[in-house]
Amino acid sequence: TWSQVPQGPPDAILGITEAFKKDSHPKKINLGVGAYRDDKGKPYVLPSVQQAEQEIVKKKLDKEYAGITGVPEFVKGAALLAYGPNSAPLKEGRVAITQTISGTGALRIGGAFLQRHYPHAKTIYIPTPSWANHKAVFLDSGLEVKQYRYYNKDTIGLDFDGMIADIKSMPKNSIVLLHACAHNPTGIDPTEEQWKGISDAMKEGGHYSFFDMAYQGFASGDTDRDAFSLRHFIEQGHQPCLAQSFAKNMGLYGERVGAFSIVTESTEEKARVDSQIKILVRPLYSNPPVHGARIASYILNDPALNKQWLTEVEGMAGRIIKMRALLKENLEKLGSKRKWDHITDQIGMFAYTGLTAEQMTQLAEEHSVYATKDGRISVAGITSENVERLAESIYKITG
Ligand code: PMP
Repeated sequence: TWSQVPQGPPDAILGITEAFKKDSHPKKINLGVGAYRDDKGKPYVLPSVQQAEQEIVKKKLDKEYAGITGVPEFVKGAALLAYGPNSAPLKEGRVAITQTISGTGALRIGGAFLQRHYPHAKTIYIPTPSWANHKAVFLDSGLEVKQYRYYNKDTIGLDFDGMIADIKSMPKNSIVLLHACAHNPTGIDPTEEQWKGISDAMKEGGHYSFFDMAYQGFASGDTDRDAFSLRHFIEQGHQPCLAQSFAKNMGLYGERVGAFSIVTESTEEKARVDSQIKILVRPLYSNPPVHGARIASYILNDPALNKQWLTEVEGMAGRIIKMRALLKENLEKLGSKRKWDHITDQIGMFAYTGLTAEQMTQLAEEHSVYATKDGRISVAGITSENVERLAESIYKITG
């Protein structure tokens, strides 16, 4: 029956993990995975998550279905976290929101909603480069995918002029995907001034903004600061849609906790949009899982636990910022002729080193340091113990 099914290519990241596992080097380093690790290189379950989980178990809640759009207190808390307490659309009750299967599910529901209901276009523009899954998610949602300029390899920084020029040359009312903070894979975010310019250019073209916010709090350690782009756009009159993930900022990766929301014009419009979101979700997975959403809900809505969580988010972001500084410091100490400012200028879990595919292969083969061929390293995989060896390995390859 399946003789005509072609062999698909393996997942790039999983391939790295395979190669890493096979390597017998006692000090091998895996910088491929997109998940936070503590300073001992171990997965980290947030104490606030552990506490919320214990409280939930104590309550002996039933396992009945959630509604189609999920756990109500969870989505309420998620919206408040993203849009902020002063958000006009939130206060006016015109944000449609549904719980989703983490950030990926949010993007997929968003893609499907736009494909079905956005009246002006069936194409979404994503940055070059973008998270590797964006293209597949939107193509599978039935949208066409095009790209806009984002990364400048000469400066290892943002190609702001290219980005603005591309936004300006898109057809009117285009859909544009924006990474709200901690751009993946480059770690390069626009400054607040640049976001203002992007908002203006988007408004000029009548474009529709789709924010992907997978790292709120994880970038700067401050959940409000990381929401600047989204909130600024709304203040400027945009009515964006938003994909949220709680994989990184709560460490709930495998629990698959996320939300998709759309800012609408009125409560009446919100009700119609809500009804269509439900019509999309019902035949896909009927309703989302409850356990992870209950944990997130607890953390978002309990004032004491929320405060604790914010400290833990700050701790994760802080460790990453420290590892960036240490990597740069060690490279400079070794006498590297290259400039490494981009390592500390960039933000979030990933650093775009500027290393070529050949150099990345050399890193793996000669130094047992594994990461993707685009030169992206997961800073979360760097520890106080391996940073020196990592710097030496990079130095030996780049001089
Ligand atoms: N968007 C971006 C930019 C991401 O980096 C990720 C996670 N790597 C996601 C969305 C979604 O992740 P998840 O489905 O695990 O929430």
